[in-house]
Amino acid sequence: MISIIQADITKLDVDAIINAANTSLLGGGGVDGAIHRAAGPELLQACRPIGGCPTGEARITPGFNLPAKWVIHTVGPVWHGGSENEPALLANAYRNSLELALQNQVKTVAFPAISTGVYGFPKEKAARTALGIMRQYEQCFNKIICCCFSAEDLQLYERLLTEVD
Ligand code: ADP
Repeated sequence: MISIIQADITKLDVDAIINAANTSLLGGGGVDGAIHRAAGPELLQACRPIGGCPTGEARITPGFNLPAKWVIHTVGPVWHGGSENEPALLANAYRNSLELALQNQVKTVAFPAISTGVYGFPKEKAARTALGIMRQYEQCFNKIICCCFSAEDLQLYERLLTEVD
């Protein structure tokens, strides 16, 4: 099932949380910074040898001090107006994260709203993409959580989920 909650993703006791990382995988602001702070310095040590991640792909590390067992780092696109393949790249980020989760026997997974912070992807368009890919994988997981940080995002996802239903 797909579930929508408002929470700090670093607090979630799930098999894997998704990190909206940048291509360096060496940490950043927003959710990425929060995940690195909560996981502890071992997370950076684990990310360094991976050597980065192209936009739309995903990489996995342990969660270290997080309640989550794994962190799946994916890189969403920076929004440049929509003509630079941003929607397909965002879909790839969700799809590749879920594929990597499946390969690691993950049954519960939580996503932040990838690319909708500093990367500037329009929120509703991004949420439609996210839910569309999650629907395709719903049967493969016990739970796919949309972890909204703001009340506005929570409302948006709840509205879109009932539309899809
Ligand atoms: P991006 O660079 O991919 O846009 P950001 O981290 O700037 O990534 O924002 C992505 C989303 O993550 C935004 O909706 C932001 O509100 C949200 N976010 C920030 N911190 C957290 C957190 N601790 N838990 C869940 N979501 C968060």
